[in-house]
Amino acid sequence: MNICIIGTGYVGLVTGACFADLGNRVFCVDSDRKKIDSLKRGVVPIYEPGLEEMVRGNMKKGRLSFSTNIKESVKKSTIIFICVGTPSAESGEPDLTALEAVAREIAKSMNSYKLIVEKSTVPVETGEWVKRTIDTLFASGAKKREGGFDVASNPEFLREGSAIKDFKHPDRIVIGTGSEKAKKILLELYKPLKAPIVVTDIKSAEIIKHASNSFLSMKISFINAISVVCDKTGADIKKVARGMGMDKRIGTSFLEAGIGFGGSCFPKDLDAFIHIADRLGYNFSLLREVKKINSEQKNVLIHKISQLVWNIAGKTIGVFGLSFKPDTDDIRNSPPIDIIRMLFARGAKIRAYDPKAAQKSRDTLARLCPGKKKEIVYCKDAYDAAKGCDCLVVLTDWNEFKELDFAKLKKLLKNPAIVDGRNIYDPEMMKKMGFTYIGIGRR
Ligand code: NAD
Repeated sequence: MNICIIGTGYVGLVTGACFADLGNRVFCVDSDRKKIDSLKRGVVPIYEPGLEEMVRGNMKKGRLSFSTNIKESVKKSTIIFICVGTPSAESGEPDLTALEAVAREIAKSMNSYKLIVEKSTVPVETGEWVKRTIDTLFASGAKKREGGFDVASNPEFLREGSAIKDFKHPDRIVIGTGSEKAKKILLELYKPLKAPIVVTDIKSAEIIKHASNSFLSMKISFINAISVVCDKTGADIKKVARGMGMDKRIGTSFLEAGIGFGGSCFPKDLDAFIHIADRLGYNFSLLREVKKINSEQKNVLIHKISQLVWNIAGKTIGVFGLSFKPDTDDIRNSPPIDIIRMLFARGAKIRAYDPKAAQKSRDTLARLCPGKKKEIVYCKDAYDAAKGCDCLVVLTDWNEFKELDFAKLKKLLKNPAIVDGRNIYDPEMMKKMGFTYIGIGRR
């Protein structure tokens, strides 16, 4: 099938590369010329394991191409996936201006039947707006109706860091559409994945995505709240989570206490869902509390650091990890970046190391805290980050932080103190090796 992907970011690029890998012809479009120029040279501007090889391989086979020209790419395709960003506006409301602009561009480029698929995460009823926007252009005579079109919702559930695996082996694929033709096309497209498929109406599909992300955020805030109770009582959150998670009704995933969730999806999707509920006349207070607990978790971490170093002002803190999760260079809404800003505000100096996200962090922190450029050193590895520090904090659970030479690390530190914001170390072992160690919910 000929597929057009509009918005070649984390989701669009993975989706485009994976569909090409399944044998389709894929035309990826983005308004960011720099990104497209880089992709045309086979250079992937984000870090996602296995993606660059897949992009290059499919470009070579002539199945994957990149351009800034929506019109030509839409004309050549039957299925159009909209994968543009849907960021939060100041009010928490999702900003759908890019999506609307794209819908208008698609409408102007229709030369035959098109199936327009929302893959971006959008509020319920967006599908109706897309349809109405295109219909209005036809009704006004601005565009001659050629071949007709359908709209479908096909939300994406991939996780950065394991995006290709998640795309190729999804727990489920959700297809929302009111059209038999659209349903048939999408079932055919996804057939090679042999995955469970939920077919429903557009609004239900849109809600499935927001409800899923809100539920996962809730699970994280729940276990973080329990970790505070563990801290206050001397219980161990790891054991509590294990005991809870063995109940199949609860499950083990997303029951890991830490510094709270971040990234480009959960915080924004939570805000969006709260906002959508408000608009519909329902106060989703449960989700407001999820958000509040998540934000407080960063204060919990700062408090733990001050328990080890007393006054943060003037101290040097070694930071392990800058990305919002391991195996990605994405620092959008990254809790480590927020925590560094909080440490700056308290007068700390930072030595930071991340395997992939250092450059993006450098640019972002220089923009957000222009006066603090001299207060942070970006280090070449974990040992370099530990040099002369009063305390180490683990903020992202990259695998390489789990397998360090702790005797060497201890020698490099000014004070052998660790705040483990991701609970990756064993408290007993750390104690035996002579570290003062504080985890999350593991006193
Ligand atoms: P992104 O910012 O990485 O990519 C969006 C791309 O759209 C950018 O490259 C941008 O230049 C492009 N774009 C914006 N306006 C455009 C326009 N008018 N024409 C052409 N291109 C345009 O965002 P992302 O992380 O890929 O997320 C995209 C959507 O998918 C969001 O709605 C997000 O919530 C959802 N989503 C993201 C993830 C994830 O893990 N990142 C997972 C599931 C769903």
